[in-house]
Amino acid sequence: MRLYIVGFGPGGTEYMTMEARHAIEDSDVVVGYTVYVDLLREYFQEKKFYTTPMKKEKERCQWAIDTAVSGKRVALVCSGDSGVYGMAGLVLELLEEEGQKLEIYVVAGVTAACSGGAVLGAPLNHDFAVISLSDLLTPWELIEKRLECAAMGDFCICLYNPSSRKRQDYLQRACKIVERYKSENTVCGYVKNIGREQQEKKILTLSQLKSEQVDMFTTVFIGNSQTIQKGEWMVTPRGYQL
Ligand code: SAH
Repeated sequence: MRLYIVGFGPGGTEYMTMEARHAIEDSDVVVGYTVYVDLLREYFQEKKFYTTPMKKEKERCQWAIDTAVSGKRVALVCSGDSGVYGMAGLVLELLEEEGQKLEIYVVAGVTAACSGGAVLGAPLNHDFAVISLSDLLTPWELIEKRLECAAMGDFCICLYNPSSRKRQDYLQRACKIVERYKSENTVCGYVKNIGREQQEKKILTLSQLKSEQVDMFTTVFIGNSQTIQKGEWMVTPRGYQL
């Protein structure tokens, strides 16, 4: 009757917290989205795995709950942090409906904003907003409003889900909104495949970012008015006098 909801960080086990590792080791079965479970399989070879495809999140969470209720120890795994566009919320929502008494542990992980930020340097070293450009579950008008407010407030902005096959121009649309409040020379960056093979990073200006094609395995960083590029690093100063 134990369910761990585990964020395992951006890639392989070296990015995992000890708590996440212990949770997986303590489980009888590990369940997650096929692509993520494949990342873990080689490290936990003796475990049983159960995978479900993308867009089957509700089924996956319900399966995890039901299996835990049946007496097994279950680890439901998500990349990054389990509570940042992860499964922790959905599991807890489903539980409320059912009123089951399970032992639940939400295990934090290193979210892409932090792991990608470290690859670029220190882009989020001041106030920042994290916004997902996916309109699968959020109306696009609300995403636009949040982009606008974050840009107006001179926040650094970290964008998740910046693109997909069906949403190829969303980053461009986001940049056009942000440009109303931020200079076209604002320092920006992105990291693709953080902590995985073929990790790639790039630092560029907001106007260059607008015409850049990125994929869904990318996290995008838009600086604030103080953000600088220093050599190969993207840095948002905290304000210390040098
Ligand atoms: N729970 C995850 C986020 C899931 S939403 C977390 O906390 O990191 C999926 C989005 O996260 C992707 O579209 C991408 O923008 C970002 N992301 C997650 N893992 C990534 C990785 N390894 N490299 C680059 N971006 C990543």
